Amino acid sequence: MNIILKKSILALASLAVFSLSSGAAMADAANPKIGFSIDDLRVERWARDRDFFTAAAEKLGAKVFVQSADASEARQISQIENLISRGVDVIVIVPFNATVLTNTIKEAKKAGIKVVSYDRLILNADVDAYISFDNEKVGEMQAEGVVKAQPKGNYYLLGGSPTDNNAKMLREGQLKVLKPYIDRGDIKIVGQQWVKDWNPTEALSIVENALTANNNKIDAIVASNDGTAGGAVQALAAQKLAGKVPISGQDADLAAVKRVIAGTQTMTVYKPLQLIASQAATLSVQLARNEKPAYNSQYDNGFKKVDTVLLKPTALTKANINMLVDDGFYTQAQLGK
Ligand code: BGC
Repeated sequence: MNIILKKSILALASLAVFSLSSGAAMADAANPKIGFSIDDLRVERWARDRDFFTAAAEKLGAKVFVQSADASEARQISQIENLISRGVDVIVIVPFNATVLTNTIKEAKKAGIKVVSYDRLILNADVDAYISFDNEKVGEMQAEGVVKAQPKGNYYLLGGSPTDNNAKMLREGQLKVLKPYIDRGDIKIVGQQWVKDWNPTEALSIVENALTANNNKIDAIVASNDGTAGGAVQALAAQKLAGKVPISGQDADLAAVKRVIAGTQTMTVYKPLQLIASQAATLSVQLARNEKPAYNSQYDNGFKKVDTVLLKPTALTKANINMLVDDGFYTQAQLGK
């Protein structure tokens, strides 16, 4: 090959490499790839989070790859590894188990991927950001709602999943409210248990057993979400106690909202999912573009102080349940009112 031809081929080749790499970088910034690893899409709220998140991220030019671990620690780890090898720019994670992702996240960070902890805090890991509703406040609202309806008597504490850091934060909030009543002797905690995987069927059998062990003398139940409250109300109904024993929840799941209207669940906590999902989408795209998101808090996850966006929850009872319709969370027809 003559020298001039050789030189021009080389020049062309380097031009091609240059335009490829700069083109790729530009495409990444304009159209970042986001992996969304969700603990369990079989649970009502997470499917809505996924839909709102995907819509908001796509509007910002991103492409979203969603994975559901269906409450399996091993599956979530391999799904995150899969997202890493796909070369996403950001991974947004709703962790099943807060404490087992340290190494997987180390791998993601090594590959230059940003990591966002969604709704639940990932512990002991180098996450870039956390976004959630104020979980301690949610716990306070749950206890306040039940105490207002039943300020004295035998209380049962139905906790969330032991692998979910939120379950602990909720409990802290609940106890903050209950403590003075317990100290005064007005409220007696007759039992407490964490519900594996937040599973409603597990909650049902826990409350069945608690009722038997206490000769049905349970005056109130502080339940940590609507799914588990549903199981508990089923156990109460079997003893003709539904509607007589105040019980809390959170999420404004449709079935729970119907129970609040019917009077078998005292309250729920509304966390506008479109708000957390769209803010998380904005945050993720900003991280992909190396822009600085606006944070309003920090949480220590054992590895570092994680920059956090903390959103405000709202307590709902029968009195203000219509806020869900005003807010577009449900239609009037869905509530059957
Ligand atoms: C969330 C709740 C949800 C629960 C079960 C918690 O981490 O904050 O909204 O009900 O997980 O999925």
